[in-house]
Amino acid sequence: MDYIENRGERPGCLFCDRLAQEDGVGNLILHRGGRAFVMLNRYPYSSGHMMVVPIAHRPSIEDLDDDSMRELMQLSSRAVSLLRKAYGAQAFNLGVNIGAPAGAGVVDHVHIHVLPRWSGDTNFMVTTAETRVLPEALADTYLRLRTLWSAASPNPSP
Ligand SMILES: [Zn+2]
Repeated sequence: MDYIENRGERPGCLFCDRLAQEDGVGNLILHRGGRAFVMLNRYPYSSGHMMVVPIAHRPSIEDLDDDSMRELMQLSSRAVSLLRKAYGAQAFNLGVNIGAPAGAGVVDHVHIHVLPRWSGDTNFMVTTAETRVLPEALADTYLRLRTLWSAASPNPSP
C-alpha cells in the first residue's frame, strides 16, 4: 500500500497518463508488471522500438527502489527476446537518457529505450526524424507484439 500511495503519479506526464488509460492501440502498453511496464514508442526509430518504464514517477534510476530496478532489467531482457522472435532483430541498443541535455523526451519519468537493430541499418538510424520510413504500421506492430508478450508471460506474480 505504501508503494502505491508513494508512487507519485503525475497528471500531465506522458507515462503516468498512459498508465491511467485502458491498454490498447491508444496507449501502446504491451505489458504491465508490478513495478514497471512496457510500451511501444509512438515515434519509433524502427519497428518494435519499446520503452521499459517504472510505474513510479521518478526522474532518474537512482531514485528507484531495488525491486523497480530489478523489474526494469527483467522486462528489458524479455523485450530483447521478443524482438528477436518477432522481428529477427540481430542486435540491440538499450539506452536511458537522464536529463534534458542528454536528450530525454520525458525528463521527469525515467525510462529505458529498447531498440532492435539489424545489419546494415546504420544509415537508416542516422537519418533525421522527418525522413523515418517505417515498414509496418504502429497498430500492427502493437497487436503483434502484444500477442507475443501475452503468450510469453502467463502473468507471473511473486
Ligand atoms: Zn510519470
